[in-house]
Amino acid sequence: MSVFQIDFGSPDSGQESAPPRVVGIDLGTTNSLVAFLDLTAPKVIPGPDGSALVPSVVSFPAGAEPVVGAAAQRALLTDPANTVYSAKRLMGRGAADVAGELALLPFPVAPGSESVIRLAVGGREVTPPEVGAYILRQLKQNAEAFLGEPVTQAVITVPAYFDDAQRQATKDAGRIAGLEVLRLVNEPTAAALAYGLDKRQNGTIAVYDFGGGTFDVSILKLQEGLFEVLATHGDTHLGGDDIDNLLLRVALEDIASEWGADLSGNHEALQRLRRAIIDAKHELSTRPVTTIAFDDGGREYRRQLPREVFDQLITPIIDRTLASCRSCLGDAGLTPAAIDEVVLVGGSTRIPLVRQAVRALFEAEPHTELNPDEVVALGAAVQAGILAGTVEDQLLLDVTPLSLGIETMGGVVSKLILRNSTIPASATEQFTTAVDGQRNVLIHVLQGERELAKDCRSLARFDLKDLDPVMAGMARIEVRFLIDANGILRVSAKDLRTGKEQAVEIKPSYGLTDEQVEAMILESFDKAEEDFKERQVRETRVEADRILAAVEKAKQDDAWFALPPDERAGIDRAINELLLSYHGDDYVLMQQKMEALDHASRGLAEAMMNSAVRGALKGTKIE
Ligand code: ADP
Ligand code: MG
Repeated sequence: MSVFQIDFGSPDSGQESAPPRVVGIDLGTTNSLVAFLDLTAPKVIPGPDGSALVPSVVSFPAGAEPVVGAAAQRALLTDPANTVYSAKRLMGRGAADVAGELALLPFPVAPGSESVIRLAVGGREVTPPEVGAYILRQLKQNAEAFLGEPVTQAVITVPAYFDDAQRQATKDAGRIAGLEVLRLVNEPTAAALAYGLDKRQNGTIAVYDFGGGTFDVSILKLQEGLFEVLATHGDTHLGGDDIDNLLLRVALEDIASEWGADLSGNHEALQRLRRAIIDAKHELSTRPVTTIAFDDGGREYRRQLPREVFDQLITPIIDRTLASCRSCLGDAGLTPAAIDEVVLVGGSTRIPLVRQAVRALFEAEPHTELNPDEVVALGAAVQAGILAGTVEDQLLLDVTPLSLGIETMGGVVSKLILRNSTIPASATEQFTTAVDGQRNVLIHVLQGERELAKDCRSLARFDLKDLDPVMAGMARIEVRFLIDANGILRVSAKDLRTGKEQAVEIKPSYGLTDEQVEAMILESFDKAEEDFKERQVRETRVEADRILAAVEKAKQDDAWFALPPDERAGIDRAINELLLSYHGDDYVLMQQKMEALDHASRGLAEAMMNSAVRGALKGTKIE
């Protein structure tokens, strides 16, 4: 086995002797918080109003400075078209990806937002990362005021299900806010860190996160102090908001029957009623009964709400979260009994019925010692402390800074592990052969973001030998990438027909600096369009090779000689035209010529098929 040496880049290199303070940030859909590691325990940082929760709302009044947090939340009522909330749902997305989402949000989207959304608010256009940056800037200011020192570096959390583009957009938000994002950490991993669960070294942890607008559950595997997300499941439209809407409907019906008035068109009254309902909901988490109290134009509405009634009302909502948990367990291939620890995250897990339901499902007492709406930020602060060197000898949750893949036909790259994947990471994909009777395949391992092998960094090459010589496309070769906790990449290739296997290990020890990684990423953005086209051209050529080879083979068959001469001439003409287009870069033309050849040779294919059927029937007696 050959051993190659590469460096995955160390995200915290280049730090000077007096380490600056690194903060941890939970950039939430509903609320955001910043925390820091104080001596040894993480603490959330309060804003000027004394609250650590900054509502994730930014208002863009026309001709005035944007407003963030609680003040912006008030603008939801007075200036809804210019006030952005739930921007996290739009991070790293194009309008086409989130059309359903956008239909639910009241702020308008600028034209040309297909690939990157731009919101048209307050007479300007802002992208979701810019909206996120306003929130991050507010948190940065809160932290600087509280700590009395500049804050320039942060760890930010993201949902475990965030893809590469969403993670990148979150990093961009940090950069725009003047924060160097040292690491993105998965929210469930941060929650587990806040509880110090990494200290138990090994175990299986379920993290149940029920927030304002979203629900998700993740199952983490802790191995030698390192977390891996085994499975994640959830509903991006299920949260405390749904409970509020449910109670709002009940109250509106009450009011309609008591006052004979329909308030549903009165936005101002609705907003105040919603506030009263949320207050009552929060109170019910610590008391057996509450009162929804609302006044409008001298009229009073009072409704007692005992917890049993509330519980009954919300049971269907809780049941949906439990169904998700069961699916997640199923995806991880685990039973509830296999879960060692359960962590509750998100403001809505303060509801006693939620705690009870989770306890019953996982047959374990969930962790509730920390505030559920602070726990993610606290975990981010622990990770920040580790990176800043405040805490030593603790795990570093690492990510791959560049994508890893193999070269496939036509010199294009097939990526198996994407940039920014948390490690340990693994991926398996099946490939096949391109030539009949092929006995060897070359596995060429590459690192980088570009589409073509020649533009990526070559890490290793090895041959998988002595394959069963079968028809092109019939071989099944399984390629597996595994990056272990130390960042060592193992690539193995296995012929599933013979069971033969070959592998290499690539060790992280020399190679790329941070600047080189950055440059490789930037270059992939610059060249994206060019690369896309080149990839299309090459993939089309591979397809053309396949068709040309098939037709050449068919021309040896008896069926070919039995064809009328003009049909044969037609096929030869189509072959020539395809060959003429083959070396150009007009892949659309090449595809047309391929289709034309396919069409011209249809009669030949049919004749061959018929003779094959006749051959197969030969000797079969039909009485
Ligand atoms: P997110 O992660 O979506 O940003 P949070 O974790 O901050 O959101 O959760 C916000 C939700 O938690 C809101 O719906 C809020 O009403 C709810 N919540 C906060 N405190 C309580 C409480 N004491 N009882 C019930 N629900 C609560
Ligand atoms: Mg949250």
